[in-house]
Amino acid sequence: MQVIQSDMSPPKILTNPPIETAINIRKLSSTELLLHTKRLALDERRIGIEVLHHLREIERRRIYADIGYASLFDYVVKELEFTESSAYHRISAMRAMRDLPELEEALQTGKLSVSTVSQVQSFLRAEAVHKKKTFSKEDKASLFRSMEGKSTREVQKELVDRSPVSALPKQREKQMTEEWTELRVCLKQETLQKLKRLQDLVGRRFKEPSSYAELIDLLAELGLKKFDPLMKMAPEKKEPQSKSNVRGELESPEEGREMDAAVKDRSNAGEDMRSSEASHARYRSRTDCTTRVLSTPRVLSTSKVNSRYISSSARAQVWKEARGRCTYRNPKTGIRCGTTRWLEIEHLTPHALGGTNSPDNLTLLCKAHNWVRAKQAFGRGKIEKYERANKKP
Ligand SMILES: [Zn+2]
Repeated sequence: MQVIQSDMSPPKILTNPPIETAINIRKLSSTELLLHTKRLALDERRIGIEVLHHLREIERRRIYADIGYASLFDYVVKELEFTESSAYHRISAMRAMRDLPELEEALQTGKLSVSTVSQVQSFLRAEAVHKKKTFSKEDKASLFRSMEGKSTREVQKELVDRSPVSALPKQREKQMTEEWTELRVCLKQETLQKLKRLQDLVGRRFKEPSSYAELIDLLAELGLKKFDPLMKMAPEKKEPQSKSNVRGELESPEEGREMDAAVKDRSNAGEDMRSSEASHARYRSRTDCTTRVLSTPRVLSTSKVNSRYISSSARAQVWKEARGRCTYRNPKTGIRCGTTRWLEIEHLTPHALGGTNSPDNLTLLCKAHNWVRAKQAFGRGKIEKYERANKKP
Protein backbone atom coordinates (compact mmCIF):
# COMPACT_ATOMS: atom_id res chain seq x y z
CA MET A 1 0.00 0.00 0.00
CA GLN A 2 1.39 3.38 -0.93
CA VAL A 3 0.28 6.77 0.05
CA ILE A 4 -0.54 9.04 -2.84
CA GLN A 5 1.59 12.13 -2.97
CA SER A 6 1.39 15.34 -4.87
CA ASP A 7 4.04 17.87 -5.81
CA MET A 8 1.67 20.75 -5.20
CA SER A 9 3.51 23.42 -3.24
CA PRO A 10 2.24 24.10 0.24
CA PRO A 11 0.15 27.20 0.65
CA LYS A 12 2.20 30.11 1.96
CA ILE A 13 1.16 31.35 5.35
CA LEU A 14 0.26 34.99 4.97
CA THR A 15 0.68 37.22 7.94
CA ASN A 16 -1.82 39.99 8.51
CA PRO A 17 -0.65 43.33 7.14
CA PRO A 18 -0.77 46.13 9.72
CA ILE A 19 -4.25 47.56 9.87
CA GLU A 20 -4.34 51.10 8.55
CA THR A 21 -7.02 52.02 10.97
CA ALA A 22 -4.95 51.01 14.00
CA ILE A 23 -5.24 54.44 15.49
CA ASN A 24 -5.80 55.45 19.02
CA ILE A 25 -9.52 54.88 19.28
CA ARG A 26 -9.79 56.69 22.57
CA LYS A 27 -8.67 59.94 20.96
CA LEU A 28 -11.44 59.91 18.34
CA SER A 29 -14.43 62.19 18.72
CA SER A 30 -17.78 60.41 18.90
CA THR A 31 -18.62 61.43 15.31
CA GLU A 32 -15.25 60.15 14.08
CA LEU A 33 -15.70 56.92 16.02
CA LEU A 34 -19.09 56.29 14.40
CA LEU A 35 -17.71 57.08 10.93
CA HIS A 36 -14.75 54.76 11.43
CA THR A 37 -16.98 51.95 12.63
CA LYS A 38 -19.22 52.34 9.61
CA ARG A 39 -16.23 52.23 7.29
CA LEU A 40 -14.89 49.12 8.99
CA ALA A 41 -18.30 47.42 8.69
CA LEU A 42 -18.30 48.18 4.94
CA ASP A 43 -14.72 46.88 4.66
CA GLU A 44 -15.70 43.73 6.51
CA ARG A 45 -18.53 43.06 4.03
CA ARG A 46 -16.24 43.80 1.07
CA ILE A 47 -13.60 41.41 2.42
CA GLY A 48 -16.30 38.80 3.05
CA ILE A 49 -17.32 39.00 -0.62
CA GLU A 50 -13.67 38.81 -1.71
CA VAL A 51 -13.38 35.58 0.33
CA LEU A 52 -16.41 34.19 -1.55
CA HIS A 53 -14.79 35.00 -4.93
CA HIS A 54 -11.58 33.30 -3.82
CA LEU A 55 -13.47 30.21 -2.62
CA ARG A 56 -15.20 30.02 -5.96
CA GLU A 57 -11.88 29.96 -7.82
CA ILE A 58 -10.40 27.42 -5.37
CA GLU A 59 -13.42 25.22 -6.03
CA ARG A 60 -13.17 25.68 -9.79
CA ARG A 61 -9.52 24.57 -9.74
CA ARG A 62 -10.14 22.01 -6.95
CA ILE A 63 -6.98 23.19 -5.21
CA TYR A 64 -8.38 21.93 -1.90
CA ALA A 65 -7.93 18.39 -3.21
CA ASP A 66 -4.36 19.05 -4.36
CA ILE A 67 -3.30 20.16 -0.89
CA GLY A 68 -4.99 17.26 0.83
CA TYR A 69 -8.64 18.01 1.61
CA ALA A 70 -11.61 15.92 0.53
CA SER A 71 -13.89 18.90 -0.10
CA LEU A 72 -14.00 22.67 -0.18
CA PHE A 73 -15.91 22.45 3.12
CA ASP A 74 -13.06 20.49 4.76
CA TYR A 75 -10.59 23.09 3.46
CA VAL A 76 -12.59 26.02 4.84
CA VAL A 77 -13.03 24.37 8.25
CA LYS A 78 -9.57 22.86 8.70
CA GLU A 79 -7.32 25.28 6.81
CA LEU A 80 -9.16 28.59 7.22
CA GLU A 81 -10.46 27.61 10.66
CA PHE A 82 -14.01 28.81 10.16
CA THR A 83 -16.67 27.05 12.22
CA GLU A 84 -18.67 24.39 10.38
CA SER A 85 -21.79 26.52 10.18
CA SER A 86 -19.84 29.55 9.01
CA ALA A 87 -18.11 27.43 6.35
CA TYR A 88 -21.46 26.05 5.24
CA HIS A 89 -23.02 29.53 4.93
CA ARG A 90 -20.06 30.91 3.01
CA ILE A 91 -19.91 28.06 0.51
CA SER A 92 -23.66 28.15 0.05
CA ALA A 93 -23.62 31.94 -0.50
CA MET A 94 -20.69 31.59 -2.91
CA ARG A 95 -22.71 29.14 -5.03
CA ALA A 96 -25.77 31.40 -4.97
CA MET A 97 -23.61 34.32 -6.11
CA ARG A 98 -22.15 32.17 -8.89
CA ASP A 99 -25.68 31.61 -10.25
CA LEU A 100 -26.93 35.15 -9.60
CA PRO A 101 -24.08 37.69 -9.79
CA GLU A 102 -26.50 40.49 -8.81
CA LEU A 103 -26.47 39.13 -5.24
CA GLU A 104 -23.05 40.66 -4.79
CA GLU A 105 -24.51 44.15 -4.65
CA ALA A 106 -27.15 43.13 -2.08
CA LEU A 107 -24.40 41.56 0.04
CA GLN A 108 -22.16 44.60 -0.31
CA THR A 109 -24.87 47.04 0.72
CA GLY A 110 -25.96 44.80 3.57
CA LYS A 111 -29.49 44.28 2.22
CA LEU A 112 -28.76 40.57 2.42
CA SER A 113 -26.37 38.82 4.78
CA VAL A 114 -24.26 35.79 3.94
CA SER A 115 -26.41 33.65 6.23
CA THR A 116 -29.68 34.85 4.63
CA VAL A 117 -28.33 34.10 1.15
CA SER A 118 -27.25 30.69 2.40
CA GLN A 119 -30.71 30.03 3.93
CA VAL A 120 -32.50 30.86 0.68
CA GLN A 121 -29.99 28.91 -1.40
CA SER A 122 -30.45 25.81 0.80
CA PHE A 123 -34.21 26.23 0.51
CA LEU A 124 -34.04 26.34 -3.30
CA ARG A 125 -31.87 23.25 -3.35
CA ALA A 126 -34.21 21.40 -0.98
CA GLU A 127 -37.23 22.35 -3.12
CA ALA A 128 -35.47 20.89 -6.14
CA VAL A 129 -34.81 17.66 -4.22
CA HIS A 130 -38.13 17.26 -2.39
CA LYS A 131 -40.55 18.62 -4.94
CA LYS A 132 -38.51 18.29 -8.12
CA LYS A 133 -39.27 21.97 -8.50
CA THR A 134 -37.06 24.02 -10.78
CA PHE A 135 -36.86 27.77 -10.46
CA SER A 136 -36.06 30.15 -13.26
CA LYS A 137 -33.30 32.68 -12.65
CA GLU A 138 -35.96 35.39 -12.37
CA ASP A 139 -37.92 33.37 -9.75
CA LYS A 140 -34.76 32.84 -7.74
CA ALA A 141 -33.78 36.51 -7.96
CA SER A 142 -37.25 37.59 -6.90
CA LEU A 143 -37.19 35.24 -3.88
CA PHE A 144 -33.82 36.69 -2.82
CA ARG A 145 -35.13 40.24 -3.32
CA SER A 146 -38.17 39.50 -1.15
CA MET A 147 -35.84 38.63 1.75
CA GLU A 148 -33.85 41.88 1.64
CA GLY A 149 -33.66 43.68 4.98
CA LYS A 150 -35.15 40.75 6.91
CA SER A 151 -33.65 39.04 9.92
CA THR A 152 -32.61 35.38 9.91
CA ARG A 153 -35.70 34.52 11.96
CA GLU A 154 -38.06 36.38 9.61
CA VAL A 155 -36.51 34.68 6.59
CA GLN A 156 -36.82 31.30 8.30
CA LYS A 157 -40.51 31.93 9.03
CA GLU A 158 -41.30 33.00 5.46
CA LEU A 159 -39.56 29.97 4.01
CA VAL A 160 -41.29 27.58 6.43
CA ASP A 161 -44.66 29.14 5.45
CA ARG A 162 -43.85 28.47 1.80
CA SER A 163 -42.70 24.87 2.28
CA PRO A 164 -41.93 23.37 5.71
CA VAL A 165 -40.31 20.26 4.27
CA SER A 166 -37.71 22.35 2.43
CA ALA A 167 -37.25 25.16 4.95
CA LEU A 168 -36.86 23.35 8.26
CA PRO A 169 -33.30 22.39 9.12
CA LYS A 170 -32.56 18.82 8.14
CA GLN A 171 -32.33 16.36 11.00
CA ARG A 172 -28.72 15.78 11.85
CA GLU A 173 -26.62 13.36 13.82
CA LYS A 174 -23.26 14.65 14.94
CA GLN A 175 -21.05 12.31 16.89
CA MET A 176 -19.47 14.20 19.79
CA THR A 177 -17.59 11.32 21.47
CA GLU A 178 -17.71 7.53 21.20
CA GLU A 179 -20.62 7.56 23.62
CA TRP A 180 -22.47 10.77 22.82
CA THR A 181 -24.12 12.01 19.64
CA GLU A 182 -25.82 15.33 19.16
CA LEU A 183 -29.18 14.88 17.46
CA ARG A 184 -30.90 17.81 15.80
CA VAL A 185 -34.55 17.40 14.95
CA CYS A 186 -37.48 19.77 14.47
CA LEU A 187 -40.71 18.91 16.28
CA LYS A 188 -44.27 20.12 15.84
CA GLN A 189 -45.64 22.07 18.82
CA GLU A 190 -48.07 19.23 19.41
CA THR A 191 -45.24 16.67 19.78
CA LEU A 192 -43.29 18.98 22.05
CA GLN A 193 -46.31 19.37 24.31
CA LYS A 194 -46.67 15.59 24.55
CA LEU A 195 -43.00 15.28 25.49
CA LYS A 196 -43.33 17.99 28.13
CA ARG A 197 -46.36 16.23 29.60
CA LEU A 198 -44.42 12.96 29.75
CA GLN A 199 -41.45 14.77 31.27
CA ASP A 200 -43.73 16.10 33.95
CA LEU A 201 -45.21 12.65 34.71
CA VAL A 202 -41.84 10.91 34.82
CA GLY A 203 -40.43 13.72 36.95
CA ARG A 204 -43.26 13.48 39.44
CA ARG A 205 -42.96 9.73 39.74
CA PHE A 206 -39.20 9.54 40.17
CA LYS A 207 -38.60 12.92 41.79
CA GLU A 208 -36.00 13.87 39.18
CA PRO A 209 -36.61 16.08 36.21
CA SER A 210 -35.95 14.10 33.04
CA SER A 211 -33.90 15.60 30.25
CA TYR A 212 -35.01 15.11 26.65
CA ALA A 213 -32.14 12.62 26.25
CA GLU A 214 -33.54 10.52 29.10
CA LEU A 215 -37.06 10.80 27.75
CA ILE A 216 -36.04 9.66 24.27
CA ASP A 217 -34.15 6.75 25.80
CA LEU A 218 -37.22 5.81 27.83
CA LEU A 219 -39.49 6.02 24.77
CA ALA A 220 -37.05 3.96 22.69
CA GLU A 221 -36.97 1.31 25.39
CA LEU A 222 -40.78 1.16 25.60
CA GLY A 223 -41.13 1.13 21.82
CA LEU A 224 -38.61 -1.68 21.38
CA LYS A 225 -40.29 -3.76 24.06
CA LYS A 226 -43.56 -3.32 22.24
CA PHE A 227 -42.52 -3.72 18.62
CA ASP A 228 -39.16 -5.45 18.39
CA PRO A 229 -39.55 -9.25 18.03
CA LEU A 230 -35.89 -9.72 19.03
CA MET A 231 -36.43 -7.85 22.30
CA LYS A 232 -39.54 -9.93 22.91
CA MET A 233 -37.50 -13.12 22.49
CA ALA A 234 -35.01 -12.00 25.16
CA PRO A 235 -35.79 -13.59 28.55
CA GLU A 236 -38.00 -11.36 30.69
CA LYS A 237 -36.35 -9.75 33.66
CA LYS A 238 -38.19 -10.05 36.94
CA GLU A 239 -38.88 -6.45 37.89
CA PRO A 240 -39.47 -5.81 41.58
CA GLN A 241 -42.92 -4.26 41.93
CA SER A 242 -42.79 -0.59 42.62
CA LYS A 243 -43.60 -0.03 46.27
CA SER A 244 -45.55 3.04 45.40
CA ASN A 245 -49.01 2.17 44.28
CA VAL A 246 -49.54 5.58 42.89
CA ARG A 247 -50.13 5.02 39.18
CA GLY A 248 -49.90 8.71 38.65
CA GLU A 249 -51.82 9.89 35.65
CA LEU A 250 -50.87 7.17 33.21
CA GLU A 251 -53.55 5.82 30.95
CA SER A 252 -53.53 2.20 32.11
CA PRO A 253 -51.85 -0.06 34.74
CA GLU A 254 -50.19 -1.92 31.86
CA GLU A 255 -48.51 1.24 30.58
CA GLY A 256 -47.54 2.15 34.11
CA ARG A 257 -45.72 -1.16 34.59
CA GLU A 258 -43.87 -0.85 31.31
CA MET A 259 -42.85 2.67 32.18
CA ASP A 260 -41.62 1.60 35.62
CA ALA A 261 -39.52 -1.15 34.10
CA ALA A 262 -38.08 1.13 31.46
CA VAL A 263 -37.25 3.90 33.89
CA LYS A 264 -35.69 1.46 36.34
CA ASP A 265 -33.52 0.15 33.52
CA ARG A 266 -32.15 3.66 33.24
CA SER A 267 -31.87 4.47 36.92
CA ASN A 268 -30.42 1.22 38.35
CA ALA A 269 -26.87 1.43 37.14
CA GLY A 270 -25.89 -2.11 38.24
CA GLU A 271 -27.39 -5.44 37.22
CA ASP A 272 -30.39 -3.99 35.45
CA MET A 273 -28.24 -1.90 33.13
CA ARG A 274 -25.99 -4.85 32.37
CA SER A 275 -28.90 -7.10 31.48
CA SER A 276 -30.39 -4.36 29.36
CA GLU A 277 -26.98 -4.05 27.63
CA ALA A 278 -27.00 -7.81 27.09
CA SER A 279 -30.38 -7.76 25.40
CA HIS A 280 -29.18 -4.89 23.19
CA ALA A 281 -26.05 -6.89 22.38
CA ARG A 282 -28.22 -9.83 21.32
CA TYR A 283 -30.24 -7.43 19.22
CA ARG A 284 -27.12 -6.01 17.66
CA SER A 285 -25.62 -9.40 16.90
CA ARG A 286 -28.78 -10.28 14.97
CA THR A 287 -28.76 -7.07 13.01
CA ASP A 288 -25.01 -6.95 12.39
CA CYS A 289 -25.42 -8.69 9.06
CA THR A 290 -27.30 -5.62 7.81
CA THR A 291 -24.52 -3.33 8.99
CA ARG A 292 -21.94 -5.48 7.29
CA VAL A 293 -23.83 -5.43 4.02
CA LEU A 294 -23.93 -1.65 4.17
CA SER A 295 -20.31 -1.14 5.06
CA THR A 296 -18.67 -3.72 2.84
CA PRO A 297 -17.49 -2.32 -0.47
CA ARG A 298 -19.62 -3.31 -3.42
CA VAL A 299 -18.27 -6.42 -5.11
CA LEU A 300 -18.94 -7.19 -8.73
CA SER A 301 -20.93 -10.27 -9.48
CA THR A 302 -18.54 -13.14 -10.25
CA SER A 303 -20.52 -13.86 -13.39
CA LYS A 304 -19.32 -10.51 -14.67
CA VAL A 305 -15.65 -11.08 -13.94
CA ASN A 306 -13.51 -9.12 -16.33
CA SER A 307 -10.03 -7.66 -16.32
CA ARG A 308 -11.17 -4.81 -14.05
CA TYR A 309 -12.54 -7.20 -11.47
CA ILE A 310 -10.98 -6.76 -8.03
CA SER A 311 -11.37 -9.77 -5.78
CA SER A 312 -13.26 -9.36 -2.52
CA SER A 313 -10.16 -10.41 -0.55
CA ALA A 314 -8.09 -7.70 -2.30
CA ARG A 315 -10.81 -5.14 -1.54
CA ALA A 316 -10.96 -6.22 2.08
CA GLN A 317 -7.18 -5.97 2.40
CA VAL A 318 -7.11 -2.48 0.87
CA TRP A 319 -9.92 -1.27 3.17
CA LYS A 320 -8.21 -2.80 6.19
CA GLU A 321 -4.80 -1.31 5.44
CA ALA A 322 -6.30 2.11 4.76
CA ARG A 323 -8.43 1.78 7.91
CA GLY A 324 -11.44 2.84 5.89
CA ARG A 325 -9.98 6.28 5.17
CA CYS A 326 -8.73 8.18 2.12
CA THR A 327 -4.95 7.60 1.91
CA TYR A 328 -4.05 10.82 0.10
CA ARG A 329 -1.28 12.81 1.72
CA ASN A 330 0.36 15.94 0.39
CA PRO A 331 4.12 15.51 0.95
CA LYS A 332 4.81 19.21 1.39
CA THR A 333 1.89 20.30 3.53
CA GLY A 334 1.84 16.95 5.31
CA ILE A 335 -1.96 17.12 5.21
CA ARG A 336 -3.51 13.68 5.09
CA CYS A 337 -7.07 13.69 3.84
CA GLY A 338 -8.32 10.76 5.92
CA THR A 339 -11.97 11.32 5.10
CA THR A 340 -14.34 8.39 5.54
CA ARG A 341 -16.80 9.70 2.95
CA TRP A 342 -17.10 9.15 -0.82
CA LEU A 343 -14.44 6.39 -0.86
CA GLU A 344 -13.50 4.33 -3.86
CA ILE A 345 -10.83 1.70 -4.44
CA GLU A 346 -8.39 3.05 -7.01
CA HIS A 347 -5.39 1.80 -8.95
CA LEU A 348 -2.03 3.44 -8.17
CA THR A 349 -0.90 2.72 -11.69
CA PRO A 350 -4.15 3.17 -13.61
CA HIS A 351 -5.76 0.15 -15.20
CA ALA A 352 -5.61 1.94 -18.55
CA LEU A 353 -1.82 2.23 -18.18
CA GLY A 354 -1.34 -1.45 -17.40
CA GLY A 355 -1.80 -1.37 -13.61
CA THR A 356 -2.77 -4.69 -12.04
CA ASN A 357 -5.54 -5.53 -9.59
CA SER A 358 -3.25 -6.79 -6.84
CA PRO A 359 -3.52 -5.07 -3.45
CA ASP A 360 -0.09 -3.42 -3.75
CA ASN A 361 -1.38 -1.50 -6.79
CA LEU A 362 -4.63 -0.54 -5.05
CA THR A 363 -5.53 2.12 -2.55
CA LEU A 364 -8.51 3.83 -1.04
CA LEU A 365 -9.23 7.38 -2.20
CA CYS A 366 -12.08 9.81 -1.80
CA LYS A 367 -13.73 11.28 -4.89
CA ALA A 368 -11.66 14.48 -4.77
CA HIS A 369 -8.37 12.60 -4.53
CA ASN A 370 -9.36 10.11 -7.16
CA TRP A 371 -9.65 13.21 -9.36
CA VAL A 372 -6.19 14.47 -8.28
CA ARG A 373 -4.74 11.04 -9.02
CA ALA A 374 -6.38 10.90 -12.46
CA LYS A 375 -5.13 14.42 -13.20
CA GLN A 376 -1.58 13.34 -12.33
CA ALA A 377 -1.82 10.25 -14.51
CA PHE A 378 -3.62 11.63 -17.57
CA GLY A 379 -3.22 15.41 -17.38
CA ARG A 380 -5.81 17.97 -16.37
CA GLY A 381 -6.90 18.77 -19.94
CA LYS A 382 -7.85 15.17 -20.73
CA ILE A 383 -9.74 14.72 -17.46
CA GLU A 384 -11.73 17.93 -17.89
CA LYS A 385 -12.55 16.98 -21.48
CA TYR A 386 -13.76 13.59 -20.25
CA GLU A 387 -15.86 15.24 -17.51
CA ARG A 388 -17.46 17.68 -19.98
CA ALA A 389 -18.32 14.80 -22.30
CA ASN A 390 -19.94 12.86 -19.42
CA LYS A 391 -21.67 15.78 -17.77
CA LYS A 392 -25.36 15.23 -17.20
CA PRO A 393 -27.52 17.76 -19.02
ZN1 LIG B 1 -9.24 12.27 0.10
